[in-house]
Amino acid sequence: MDLYEYQGKELFRRYGIPVSEGRLATSPAEAREAAQELGCPVVVKAQVLTGGRGKAGGIRLAETPAEAEARAREILGLDIRGHTVHKVWVERASDIEREYYLSITFDRSEKKPLFMFTTQGGIDIEEVAASSPEALVRLHVDPLEGYNAWQGRRLVHDAGVEDPGEQKQIAAIVGNLYRAFVGTEAMLCEVNPLIVTPQGEVRALDSKFTVDDNALFRLPDVAKMRDLAAADPLEALAREKGVTYVKLDGEVGVLGNGAGLTMSTVDVVTFVGGRPANFCDLGGGGDAQGVVDALEVITRDPQVRSIFFNIFGGITRCDEVARGILQALDQMAIEDPIVVRLDGTNAKEGRQLLREAAPPNLHAEATMLDGARRAVELAGA
Ligand code: GDP
Ligand code: MN
Repeated sequence: MDLYEYQGKELFRRYGIPVSEGRLATSPAEAREAAQELGCPVVVKAQVLTGGRGKAGGIRLAETPAEAEARAREILGLDIRGHTVHKVWVERASDIEREYYLSITFDRSEKKPLFMFTTQGGIDIEEVAASSPEALVRLHVDPLEGYNAWQGRRLVHDAGVEDPGEQKQIAAIVGNLYRAFVGTEAMLCEVNPLIVTPQGEVRALDSKFTVDDNALFRLPDVAKMRDLAAADPLEALAREKGVTYVKLDGEVGVLGNGAGLTMSTVDVVTFVGGRPANFCDLGGGGDAQGVVDALEVITRDPQVRSIFFNIFGGITRCDEVARGILQALDQMAIEDPIVVRLDGTNAKEGRQLLREAAPPNLHAEATMLDGARRAVELAGA
């Protein structure tokens, strides 16, 4: 789950990472009030779950509360790379002497958290990595040993920060960022820019924060930050129903059991020239209600033209899935053709059930490849 800048900064604050004071506003009038309370000048910042807001006109300075209101009016409703702005963060403007970059993420190949730090912040980090890779200092933390204070000092030293006051502040921020990363079960914490003010104060001016969805049950106050409005409505419905679903852009609805089989199914549909409409994993159980819920989500997508059920019965029993399909067809008016491939535990019984009921829009295929071909063909018809 990605957090908005203002939410990430709230977490930074809790972990002792300095941020500017600010207020959230959803209307120009609120932005004006916020500016009044904070004292001008302020920055009005679009809150969207995407980067590059500055370049897109989503970050604007305001010298007076009236100006803050005007800037908020311009920014609210703006489309930034497909994200509509519904909220702005109004924060006391900072004077910037230098812009650095600091992040921590997982390095999956090393199986360790990885810090990256450079004094060439502010701009795209990919650009720095490409044009002057030596300026980007990388440092792994062994998760079993945990963070050690020397690691912050090493980052700061290797990146060439010379001012002792800056060194001290940044090293402390690095330690606190590690605590924030572990404490919120994050997958990414990025500060770009980490600024130095003319007075020599170091502060996080932006935040990019991704937390692990699977850990949210342990972190109720982070889970509350989830913005259902920003999520895809189909994905929100799926979440509500406990269906594992990712919306894609094609016409063939895909339903499999187990993430591996479902991903393979998405691949095979693509391989035979089709475009998957979604990824939907029925999971290990595959009881009738689960099938009904999954079909309800898949068919809610107006782009879907056919549905491919690819079930390999292990723990999941194919007869149970077949019952689920029939029950779903009973409960809902599904007009799209459904292709079913059942294999594994109780496949024979499952196929028999489908054959006996023989719904007109149901097509059984023996293999995954044949099933995919048929579903793609039917989506085109
Ligand atoms: P992003 O474009 O989405 O990464 O948004 P940022 O929050 O990183 O802001 C982009 C740029 O706007 C920063 O790199 C700064 O140069 C500028 N900016 C943001 N806040 C302030 C501020 O308080 N004062 C000044 N002078 N510039 C700011
Ligand atoms: Mn930024």
